Amino acid sequence: MKVFAKILCLCLSLTVLVLCCGCGDTGLTTEEGKLTMATNAEFPPYEFREGDKIVGIDAEVAGLIAEKLGLELEIADVDFESIIPGVQSGKYDMGMAGMTVTEDRQKKVNFSTSYAKGIQVVIVKEDSDIKSIDDLTGKKIGAQQGTTGYIYASDTPENGGYGEENVIGYQNGALAVEALKGGKVDCVIIDNEPAKAYVAANEGLKILDTEFTNEDYAICFSKKNDELQKKVNDALEELIADGSLQKVVDKYIKAE
Ligand code: GLN
Repeated sequence: MKVFAKILCLCLSLTVLVLCCGCGDTGLTTEEGKLTMATNAEFPPYEFREGDKIVGIDAEVAGLIAEKLGLELEIADVDFESIIPGVQSGKYDMGMAGMTVTEDRQKKVNFSTSYAKGIQVVIVKEDSDIKSIDDLTGKKIGAQQGTTGYIYASDTPENGGYGEENVIGYQNGALAVEALKGGKVDCVIIDNEPAKAYVAANEGLKILDTEFTNEDYAICFSKKNDELQKKVNDALEELIADGSLQKVVDKYIKAE
């Protein structure tokens, strides 16, 4: 009996060992042959749903990167705020969501080469008395939770913000825009391209001429996965150099 127990023990530990080595494989991605990307598909034209498919600039560029790496792309649609924690814990291989590189985020994750620029803009109703960002003081501001728009707006007035008490965070851009239409907030601060898409899709809204901030978008990775970051960077740089990335951008953002 004792011997049997020992053998059983040995078998179990061997199984654990084999399983651990097996799923790690090269260590490049969480699941062998797959590249899992976390995004929030409420951010047109970078990521949005067309039927039950997630499309957009990020989705397509990630597809091209996966192809170069010989991996199958799998997209997880989660809240924007869950992307970085999910990447940190290794639940997702990377996060790509029109994500701005910030110092604070750089403490938590690594970023790829930047592949796009973003500007925070202000959406108001067409008949709004808000004419510029100087008129935002004392107004109710809507923003997406966890985004740079929210972070800047909720900062103290000394730091160029409008105070946390004046900002309402929504789970995504679509909900913030609904709140503006319903009069729950006086404006929405959001990235320029989604702003254009939301204004085009909804009557009676406009974007103020004033620009809030300029930002760089990049893909994020776990700090423990330098190898993937490097491989994706190489692929991304090739796509930038040979014009493939621009082709995808031109498909989704038409020149004015
Ligand atoms: N660029 C903004 C940020 O990184 C918003 C991104 C998003 O909402 N998907 O915070």
